Amino acid sequence: MQGSHHQAMQSHHDVIIVGGGMVGAALAARLGNAGRSVGLVEQGDAPELPEGDYDLRVSSLNARSLAFINASGTQLPDERCCPFRHIDVFNQDGSGHSLFSAADSGMDDFGIFIENRTLQYALWQRLAELPGATCYTQCAPISTLASGDARLLELDNGQTLSAPLIVGADGARSTLRELANIGVTQHDYHQRALIVNVETELPQQDVSWQCFTPNGPMAMLPLPGQRASLVWYDNDDDTKAREQLNDEALKSTIEDAFPKRLGKLTRIVARASFPIKRQHAKRYIGKRLALIGDAAHVVHPLAGQGLNIGLHDADTLAELIIHGRDPGDHINLHRFEVQRRLANQAMIAATDSFHHLFTGAKPLRQLGDLSLHIAEHIPLAKRMMMQQANGLNPFKKR
Ligand SMILES: Cc1cc2nc3c(=O)[nH]c(=O)nc-3n(C[C@H](O)[C@H](O)[C@H](O)COP(=O)(O)OP(=O)(O)OC[C@H]3O[C@@H](n4cnc5c(N)ncnc54)[C@H](O)[C@@H]3O)c2cc1C
Repeated sequence: MQGSHHQAMQSHHDVIIVGGGMVGAALAARLGNAGRSVGLVEQGDAPELPEGDYDLRVSSLNARSLAFINASGTQLPDERCCPFRHIDVFNQDGSGHSLFSAADSGMDDFGIFIENRTLQYALWQRLAELPGATCYTQCAPISTLASGDARLLELDNGQTLSAPLIVGADGARSTLRELANIGVTQHDYHQRALIVNVETELPQQDVSWQCFTPNGPMAMLPLPGQRASLVWYDNDDDTKAREQLNDEALKSTIEDAFPKRLGKLTRIVARASFPIKRQHAKRYIGKRLALIGDAAHVVHPLAGQGLNIGLHDADTLAELIIHGRDPGDHINLHRFEVQRRLANQAMIAATDSFHHLFTGAKPLRQLGDLSLHIAEHIPLAKRMMMQQANGLNPFKKR
């Protein structure tokens, strides 16, 4: 599948996808499983078998995302998936506690937590089994041109591919978006997220919790066994300083700052920090071209929905392609754009208001009792998180 021996054999596909991350690989697997010929262009290597310690990048997958992955025939390894059945949100001083359970919505669980690389690897394994899927690794697009019923994609390895539709799933700094001259709107939250993978004395079971503090939320995402992924939002300077601490110092800083229910840490496995930004492409489509996933939108990771909405883009686009005649048909692409922009805009607005309500943005700090303010808004947070976890539009009246 991967590698150059296939590259010369087929340069025309039904759909070409640029970017073999989780969203691009999922769309390729779904279309390949529906019998379509797909070309997946990835600048890196094919992902390697995840072994040993859990990776830092962990995401939640909700029911719609899991159904979509399932529809591609991809098997996720049970032993590296952690289903979660409860979400607990509370204020640092213990007020405004609110636990909500999947059972309240008649579901077994809200979804699973999985390492990004485990999901990506499983999808690429599936692609290897699909006769219609061709992966072009270690190459990237340098130009693209719509011509008649197809769009051409020139790669930096000298090869040219063509398809009636080319999809950009090449992440926040999408080259395809740039080549198509699609601009973005951006916002910097002036916050960083410190992600720390830990081993704990206590088993973390099936609850994911989020504790609001005036500086930003702290969250615990459970991983199988006595492991967890911690997310600590704060300003740039404090976050960078914590990131530099040695393991012992970081361990005690976390034990002091995080809610006591986390218990003692037995090991710091890995840490990294990320700036928090929001970005939205001005258009999702062009002539025989569409953008999905982070190439189209980057949302605040606070509600853990960035990957989910990317997979929902892929799901919507896949259905239109599978049930249509021409994958790049403009009316279909327009439908895709209308549906997904509305849903993603709602998610951006929801995570934005979350951020402003719960991270002590300046006007709120002047309120004096931020704790009380936060506690009062926890029922709203509960509603928003529950609807997001269910894959629903948090702003839709029903
Ligand atoms: C701190 C943090 C925590 C997060 N937590 C969550 C969470 O809990 N739940 C959730 O749903 N989301 C979460 N997200 C968001 C999530 O990680 C992203 O939304 C997701 O990775 C987007 O997937 P993607 O496939 O669109 O892009 P990416 O993961 O960025 O993949 C892009 C792929 O394209 C390839 N590529 C890039 N440029 C080119 C090129 N020119 N040519 C060819 N290939 C190229 C890259 O190598 C890569 O493989 C989080 C994000 C951050 C920063």
